Amino acid sequence: MTLQFLGTGTSTGVPMIGCNCEVCTSSDPRDRRRRSGLHVSADGTSFVIDTPPEFRLACVELGISRVDAVLLTHAHVDHTAGFDDIRRFNTINGAVPMPAYGAEETLVALKAMFPYVTTAPNALGLFRPMIDFVPVKGRFRVGGCEVTPFRVEHGTIRTNGYRVDSPSGSFAYAPDCKSIPPESMDKIRGVDVFVVDCLRLRPHPTHMGLDESLSAIEAARPKRAFLTHLCHDVTHARLEKMLPPGVKPAYDGLVVRLGSNTLRGCDFARKGRSE
Ligand SMILES: [Zn+2]
Ligand SMILES: [Zn+2]
Ligand SMILES: [Zn+2]
Repeated sequence: MTLQFLGTGTSTGVPMIGCNCEVCTSSDPRDRRRRSGLHVSADGTSFVIDTPPEFRLACVELGISRVDAVLLTHAHVDHTAGFDDIRRFNTINGAVPMPAYGAEETLVALKAMFPYVTTAPNALGLFRPMIDFVPVKGRFRVGGCEVTPFRVEHGTIRTNGYRVDSPSGSFAYAPDCKSIPPESMDKIRGVDVFVVDCLRLRPHPTHMGLDESLSAIEAARPKRAFLTHLCHDVTHARLEKMLPPGVKPAYDGLVVRLGSNTLRGCDFARKGRSE
């Protein structure tokens, strides 16, 4: 199984419009962050989690030419604004409706944002996305992957995170959360790779700050963890030095391969949370 980050930034993206801070003007490409999304390919299946505003640009830049399904965490615009570009994959897939999985309220909001989507080919060609909306109630399968949704608290709303298990490994993805309830943590625990929200160093009302992210990782006990949904608080290089072994900041285009024997446990004992 291979994960590739379509984007790793918070809702403003980084650089932020009109900001001249150290991060927004950094020449390190890892400090340029599109809005957050993930591409997954596993055992002959290819799917994305969320369709952020730069979805098309990310697919072109990263060479993603196949998507069989879309999983949605929630309907905030930074995770959904690129949804229209699914129609290109409808064309590639031979006018097969694209399954879009999400919580009921997420799909209701998405249909209101994109009222012109259809479930059938358009008379004049595929100029509208063809979507098969699938409300998520429990575990489901995407190709050879078993997907387990879990609920997380994200300020005034709850969003879906997803755990994915395939014969070649497992990961959990929770890009927007302030806290993870115990019953959700039970579903995440022991994954190979845990990708979790880390908006900034300080706490935030609707997103995890660094200490909250590290506590969640410690509770989840993954082999490796990546921080995502980052703002312009700190450069990639500086954040990397603040993290314990096994935990890294994600960056746009980063490829994470599962199923290798190089996975090591996140070790909170060997190194402090900051230095
Ligand atoms: Zn977001
Ligand atoms: Zn800035
Ligand atoms: Zn959000």
